[in-house]
Amino acid sequence: MTPLIDPFQRAINYLRVSVTDRCDFRCVYCMSENMTFLPKKELLTLEELDRMCSTFIRLGVEKLRITGGEPLVRRDIMTFFRAMTRHLDEGTLRELTLTTNGSQLERFAGDLYDAGVRRVNVSLDTLDEQKFADITRWGRLPQVLSGIDAAQKAGLRVKINAVALKGFNEDELFTMTEWCAARDMDLTFIEVMPMGDIGNEDRLGQYWKLSDLRDELSKEYTLTDLPERTGGPARYVRLEETGQKVGFITPLTHNFCESCNRVRLTCTGELFMCLGQEDNADLRSALRNHPKSDQPLEQAIRDAIALKPKGHDFDYSRQTVDGRVSRHMSHTGG
Ligand code: SAM
Ligand code: SF4
Repeated sequence: MTPLIDPFQRAINYLRVSVTDRCDFRCVYCMSENMTFLPKKELLTLEELDRMCSTFIRLGVEKLRITGGEPLVRRDIMTFFRAMTRHLDEGTLRELTLTTNGSQLERFAGDLYDAGVRRVNVSLDTLDEQKFADITRWGRLPQVLSGIDAAQKAGLRVKINAVALKGFNEDELFTMTEWCAARDMDLTFIEVMPMGDIGNEDRLGQYWKLSDLRDELSKEYTLTDLPERTGGPARYVRLEETGQKVGFITPLTHNFCESCNRVRLTCTGELFMCLGQEDNADLRSALRNHPKSDQPLEQAIRDAIALKPKGHDFDYSRQTVDGRVSRHMSHTGG
C-alpha cells in the first residue's frame, strides 16, 4: 500500500483523534462556560472510530493519540482503546497514547495500561488548588493529582502539559518544574493559541512567550538543547541539574510546520490537515455511505492528504491576533 505523503513530501504517520467534544472541565482558554455540544448522532460511533483509525493504520499511520474534549468522559471509550490493541499486537501501530485532563485517570489508568497504552499526557497548568479551580472552572485539583498517582502506579509514563499564561502561572515555573522532576515526569509548555470564541478573552494579555519562559528557566538550570523531535511540534531541552526533559510548543514564536507529520480527525469525522487552518475533509460520508467497502474512505483520505497546507498562519507579531481560527480546541482535539 502506498504510504500517505503530502504535497510537501512529508510522510503522514501520526493521527490525532478527538473522540468527543464534551468535557467535565471548562478551561477558560479552551471553552466558554456555556458550551453547546454536538448532537450525539453527529458523532462517529465507537465502531466507526475503529473503522476510521484502522483504515489510517492500513495507510501507514503508526501513532494514534486520542484526545477531545475529554476523551475519558466518552461513554465506553475503553471498548475503543481495547479494540486498538489488536493493531499494537500486530505491530502496525507503534504507539497508542492519549491527552487527558486527568480527572478520570484514577478510574481508567489500569485499563489503559492493559489496552497497551504506555504514555499519557496530562494537562495541568497550576499546582495551586484555587488557581486550578479558577482556570478549569469546573475542575478539582486533588482529583487530578490522584489520577496522576494512579497512572504512575499502573506503569504509565506521565508527561505534564502546561499552557503558559502570563500573570497566571509565571510564578509557578520553578515549583512546577521541581514537582515534575521529583516525580520523574517530563514537562511541556504550550503557548496559548487563538482558537475558538470563548467570550471575555484576552489572548494577547495571556500570551507568555516561551522564549521568555526559557530565559527564565536558564537562570536556575543549565539547559541543553536536545536534537530529538518526537514527530510533534515540541522542541526539548534537558535540565542538567534534574535530568528531566522540558518541551516547548511554540506555534507562535517558532514555526514547526516543515516537519509536520500529523493530521487530526474530529469526533464528527472531519479531517483537519492543519490545526491552524480551516480546510477540512468530510470523511464521515465516505465511511457511512459505504458500509461494505473501505475503498472510498481510503480514497477520501488520500485526496485530503493531497490538500495538506504548508503551514499555519497564527501570528501575534503585529500585536493583534492574526490567523485566528474559529474552532474550539476541543473540536479539533488538542
Ligand atoms: N481534555 C484534554 C486535556 O485537557 O488534556 C484533551 C483535550 S485539550 C483541548 C488538549 C490540550 O489543548 C490541553 O493541553 C489544553 O491545555 C490545550 N489547549 C486548549 N485550548 C488551548 C489554547 N487556546 N491554546 C493552547 N492550548 C490549548
Ligand atoms: Fe476540557 Fe481539555 Fe478543553 Fe480543559 S483543555 S476544557 S480539560 S478539553
